[in-house]
Amino acid sequence: MIKFDNVAKIYQDDFAALQDINLEIKAGEFISIVGQSGAGKSTILKLIYAEENPTEGQIFFNEKPLDSVSRKHISEHRRNIGTVFQDFKLLPKKTAFENVAYALEVCGISVEEILEDVPQILEIVGLGDRQTKFPHELSGGEQQRVALARALIHKPLVIIADEPTGNLDPVSSLEIMQLLLKINKLGTTVILASHDRDIVNKAAKRVVVLEKGKIICDDVKGKYKIC
Ligand code: ADP
Repeated sequence: MIKFDNVAKIYQDDFAALQDINLEIKAGEFISIVGQSGAGKSTILKLIYAEENPTEGQIFFNEKPLDSVSRKHISEHRRNIGTVFQDFKLLPKKTAFENVAYALEVCGISVEEILEDVPQILEIVGLGDRQTKFPHELSGGEQQRVALARALIHKPLVIIADEPTGNLDPVSSLEIMQLLLKINKLGTTVILASHDRDIVNKAAKRVVVLEKGKIICDDVKGKYKIC
């Protein structure tokens, strides 16, 4: 589904954030990209989301090179991808329901569909009884569940999660990881960037280790380890 072919990303000042990246991610996979801060994890996710372009090499999404995705089609490409971040990025004056509904409203989806789909997705993330709560009335773990529901509402092929447990306690972190595994079981490809050793090891899924912008290990039933 996603292929990096000899990709390098050089930011200004000739700084190579990524080098010689060859990576294939199959539909339905759960993959954790790990490594120290600055290793290049977020850059990989930004390249998949076409938020950045590679300096060298090519990235393919469903066999189409991303460099052929014109500005016009970029929103179409991004509709395939749901994103979740460390800081939740919820709208503070909207309830859990409204935060998720808003993602549909901006696409012109009908009220009937919104009233059907939003409670369903909030149920899946375990927030069936918290729909009318505002972000400040929810725990960090619950806020991240809302963010995940919002990411899932367009039924994306892929969920990209950039340090989704970075602001959470160990129990909530584990719950979010279990939820990501459940979403993956339901068929969505999950790409996680994390330096949370415990949750990555508990997943026992494929682990790609980045060090200074290079892949130093790619382990199918992986552990977060130094290769
Ligand atoms: P990670 O997610 O593993 O912490 P990043 O992908 O965010 O790593 O960053 C990799 C390297 O690229 C870091 O050294 C970072 O400072 C640098 N970098 C990231 N984004 C930019 C940017 N927009 N401009 C210049 N350098 C950047």
